[in-house]
This record gives sequence, C-alpha cells and structure tokens, in this order.
Amino acid sequence: MALCDCGALVPTEDGPSHAYMSAQPACWRCYGELLARLAAEGVDAPLQMDTYAAQHPGNAPAERRQRGSVAVHLTVLCAHFDFGLPFSQLPQFRARLSSTLLPRLGLEDWPALNPPQQWGPLNAPVILSFPVSQLEEVTYEWARQVWEAWRVQETPVQFWAQTLMETDYDRRG
Ligand SMILES: [Zn+2]
Repeated sequence: MALCDCGALVPTEDGPSHAYMSAQPACWRCYGELLARLAAEGVDAPLQMDTYAAQHPGNAPAERRQRGSVAVHLTVLCAHFDFGLPFSQLPQFRARLSSTLLPRLGLEDWPALNPPQQWGPLNAPVILSFPVSQLEEVTYEWARQVWEAWRVQETPVQFWAQTLMETDYDRRG
C-alpha cells in the first residue's frame, strides 16, 4: 500500500501517473475513473479539477509546473467559496490567473505554498465509492473540504483571489 498526497491509502501500482503531479498511480487511476463516471452520468462537478490538483501538492516545492497548478487551482477554490465566484465564471477566471494576476502581483512565477497536514475524509478513491445519485453533492463537499484544509494555512491565496476578482470588476467597469 502507498499513502498518496491526498491522504488516500491506495494499492501500490505501476500504472501511469500525471506528468508532474505527485499523485500515486492508483489515485490517479481512480481520478480518471471518476472523471469518466461524471461525464457518462452527466454529473455537474465544475470544481473537480481544482480540487484534485489542490489536494496533490507534494512535488510543488521542487517542480515549477506543480507549483503553478496548486496555486492556480487553489485560487479558483478560494474565489468560489470565499468570494462567491459563480460556476459560470470559473473557466474565464481560471484562464486569467497566470496571464493577468501574476504580472499584476509583480511575480514571475508562482511561489510554493505550505500545504495542510490533514485533508479530511474525502479524496478521489473515496468519492468513487459513492453512488451516482450522490456524486454531485459529494464532489462539491470534497471541494469545500480541500479549501477548508488550505484555508487555515498562512498563504496569500485569499489576497490573490480577491485581487483578480477586483481586476475583473474594474474591467467590466
Ligand atoms: Zn491522491
């Protein structure tokens, strides 16, 4: 067995993993199965990508792309849960994070964030065990749980989310 970043204890597998995300192959496989199930059943889970990325920060200190992934996806979760960013605006907000927010902050790259020690009970392998009828609710709860775990860490994420939301409002002016 192997302990994944997200707290899931999963079978040790040799299968493929993400190019730079430090997920265990078995957890990455479960996430792929979850995506397939959500798509097949038409379940609306617009935060699943942000949740999974934010729950796998293990390589971020050493891997620039994973630092960016954790920072971007975590800021999306924060913008939704703390600042009420609606689902309909998530793709546009996500797409602007690196292109608009980094220059505005005067940063060349995303910094590594100090990750939580505890995640709570939900992760991709656990979500996969829920019946289809509960998937929409439980994937949303998973997103909330991951953001709540990060929320108590000392990070600039709330400042980032607020800054980009204000930038967008200025533009709509
Ligand atoms: Zn995992």
